[in-house]
Amino acid sequence: MSLIIKNGRVLNPPTNTDEILDIKIDGNIISAVEAEIVPVSFDEVIDAKGCYVMPGLIDMHVHFRDPGQTAKEDIETGSRAAARGGVTTVLAMPNTKPVVDNPELVKYVHEKGEKAGLTRVLQVGSVTKGMEGKELSDLQGMIDAGIPAISEDGKSVMDSGLYREAMKIVAKAGVPVLAHCEDINLVQGGVMNMGSRSENLGEKGISNAVENIIEVRDIMLSEETGATLHLCHCSTKESYDIIKEAKARGVKVSGEVCPHHFTLTEDDIIPGDGNYKMNPPVRTKEDREALRRGLAEGVFEVISTDHAPHTAEEKSKGFASPFGIVGLETSASLTYTELVLSGLITPLTMAAYMSSNPARILGRSDLGNIAPGKAADITIFDPTISYEIHAADFVGKSKNMPYEGRKVQGKVLKTIYGGNVVYDSEAN
Ligand SMILES: [Zn+2]
Repeated sequence: MSLIIKNGRVLNPPTNTDEILDIKIDGNIISAVEAEIVPVSFDEVIDAKGCYVMPGLIDMHVHFRDPGQTAKEDIETGSRAAARGGVTTVLAMPNTKPVVDNPELVKYVHEKGEKAGLTRVLQVGSVTKGMEGKELSDLQGMIDAGIPAISEDGKSVMDSGLYREAMKIVAKAGVPVLAHCEDINLVQGGVMNMGSRSENLGEKGISNAVENIIEVRDIMLSEETGATLHLCHCSTKESYDIIKEAKARGVKVSGEVCPHHFTLTEDDIIPGDGNYKMNPPVRTKEDREALRRGLAEGVFEVISTDHAPHTAEEKSKGFASPFGIVGLETSASLTYTELVLSGLITPLTMAAYMSSNPARILGRSDLGNIAPGKAADITIFDPTISYEIHAADFVGKSKNMPYEGRKVQGKVLKTIYGGNVVYDSEAN
């Protein structure tokens, strides 16, 4: 018995394909992609007429809070949120309690992810032990246990010497570094973008330099060590120039933008609402426009969510609450509405930024590609459906996000992971 997806508009960046095609899946592998595949008895058929059929989305940046903070999220609920968002592979950041700095914890998360069976959960290893910035984690042990990348996400490794040592080790293994760029000494208690808005609200600000300084340093270190560098959640207008210039020099660098940074500005902040507190913060209109231009031009080539669940109680404390918002269940719709509908990027580029580019950066040739022999991970997205975002509809454990009631267009209809339909919007 095969699963056949018929009549969909297949968007497959690796082959530059944007046409109506049928797809055949056998087991957990794509077995054929052809103009017409005729089902035989017992084959299961999904009619994707009018829909985009994309390689399963890959979110390079999520927080599943397991181990240690499962009141916010756990691997099962996070996986469910991923499936509902069309995401078939996630990279879980290591700033859990305890920090994932050893192979045993990597295996613990991978096993739990496999048990949930709703998305491919890949655990990122921390750069330093306990994320204390003093001593390297067991990088080789974690590489052997299958980490897709290393990251100190949540902060930066401020000791450049130590960071360079880590980069040398992972460069040899071809494992990328996911860099959260934040100069700890420059933050000085900031909770939102530094400028007139923070002054008006009487809140401490985070300047663009906090991010830019570390981005430049990390690019220099990547250049020196040959490590593949991926800059997380770029938020400043300067990051456009910094990355563009580094790429022109041949540095192996890529940049990601989160939906909130290309959607919102500091002017959208509702005073006292913790759902507008994230790190890096939403910034000025000028910054947002530079990010959108960078996405349109391909300077930034990845869209990821920084899905950061927190309980309602934690988030009730306004700008004294922890940083972060959830994003897995809204990212495809926000990307389509803000970037594709506005003509900034094509549907094919959306598939590239949300799937095949992450696969390429991670060196996963089995993912992000709708072709025979590749993993049967597929996202079916209906670009015609309009709806309002409501946290009450979320299946993830936490509901912290600033889009309540926002109208969007485009919706994930079905998510196929490993050949199985793991989410079906019509079944609920
Ligand atoms: Zn971060």
